[in-house]
Amino acid sequence: MTKFDVVIIGAGAAGLMCALTAGQRGRKVLLLDHAKAVGEKIRISGGGRCNFTNLHTAPKNFISHNSHFCVSALKRFTQHDFIALVKKHKIAFHEKTLGQLFCDISSRQIIEMLLKECADGAVEIRLETAAGKIKKSENLFEIEIGDELIQSESLVIATGGLSIPKIGATGFGYDVARQFGLKIKQTIPALVPLTLAEEILCETKNLSGVAVDAIVSCGKINFREAILFTHRGLSGPAILQISSYLQRGEKIVINLLPEIDVFVQLQEAKKLQPKQQLPSFFTQFLPKSLAIFLATQANHQGNLSDLSNKKIKEISDLINRWTPVTTGTEGYAKAEVTLGGIDSNEISSKTFETKSVPNLFFVGEVLDVTGWLGGFNFQWAWASGRAAGECA
Ligand SMILES: Cc1cc2nc3c(=O)[nH]c(=O)nc-3n(C[C@H](O)[C@H](O)[C@H](O)COP(=O)(O)OP(=O)(O)OC[C@H]3O[C@@H](n4cnc5c(N)ncnc54)[C@H](O)[C@@H]3O)c2cc1C
Repeated sequence: MTKFDVVIIGAGAAGLMCALTAGQRGRKVLLLDHAKAVGEKIRISGGGRCNFTNLHTAPKNFISHNSHFCVSALKRFTQHDFIALVKKHKIAFHEKTLGQLFCDISSRQIIEMLLKECADGAVEIRLETAAGKIKKSENLFEIEIGDELIQSESLVIATGGLSIPKIGATGFGYDVARQFGLKIKQTIPALVPLTLAEEILCETKNLSGVAVDAIVSCGKINFREAILFTHRGLSGPAILQISSYLQRGEKIVINLLPEIDVFVQLQEAKKLQPKQQLPSFFTQFLPKSLAIFLATQANHQGNLSDLSNKKIKEISDLINRWTPVTTGTEGYAKAEVTLGGIDSNEISSKTFETKSVPNLFFVGEVLDVTGWLGGFNFQWAWASGRAAGECA
């Protein structure tokens, strides 16, 4: 029976960071993954350029039932620590927008960097290797891997969330948590496109591919970024962000022209250009196909001079406070992350060790911590992986 100091299940962002950290401390580490390659989500992230962190990372960018849980790890391994590692490996990068850092060339450079660091820590990596049953005796974990039984002092679960099963996501981490009696906060797809009701989809199908700058709100939360019309509903950064805050049945409100008070503009236009019609009024500010869609929704055939103040208010609400009827999301197949996960009250925020099971650690997305869009989820994976790697 082979014995390791640390076995890490899941060679994604958090597992790789944990492995290289523990390995470089001199621990004998085995990192295993059932996929053919390590870091598949890193590879496909950021359109192939990996938005690997965010310059403005702070606890407020994370959603969890316990908002303080992420503070310690984020403080001890910051975005600047990860940037220093990227610089050490001479990987060129740039800020795209809002503090989001991307590789200039390819996300594969981040994977290669992590693999080099793992090699420096003599980490053994086994791919296409699914973990089977796990048993804990007094001081050791026993993990079935095919016909082999492996022993380890510490076991780290870094199997991520449920999003994108096609590239290897499983509920394995939650199963292990249940096996050891840990609580799990309800999991739902997040950072995910929203679907629209069939009636409105018939009318928005010509808009597929149209993007506009907007403010999307749900209650007191709002995001100002692009929204994108798709053939199934709505996507784009502002929609993905708000999806993480939507409870079942809650409405979103979209301001399609954040810089313009449509009520005031329409009243002025009614005076100055009384013969203008709604489609041409909207076309001044919005892409033509969207202007036509909104004019149809406004249902006013005449000139602007015919508009009553009540109708102007109704039309301005349609633009400044559009409330499309959403029917749900595109689910885990399209979600970037999983909201919810292993209850943070079960885990030490310093070491990521389970409070009730010594030497069992959970890191990364499998925990009930979900970042906003923009590099925050990787920063969480790096920070939590590092913290566990320092103790496991
Ligand atoms: C399309 C897409 C784009 C994204 N872009 C960004 C971005 O640009 N910036 C950002 O910050 N975040 C991004 N994210 C989110 C980010 O990828 C995740 O939050 C992050 O990868 C989580 O890291 P993790 O190590 O916890 O889990 P993962 O990276 O998901 O790694 C989990 C690993 O565990 C393995 N595994 C699962 N089950 C088993 C099992 N039973 N046995 C063995 N191995 C198993 C998986 O194969 C996988 O390799 C993106 C996500 C997606 C889906």
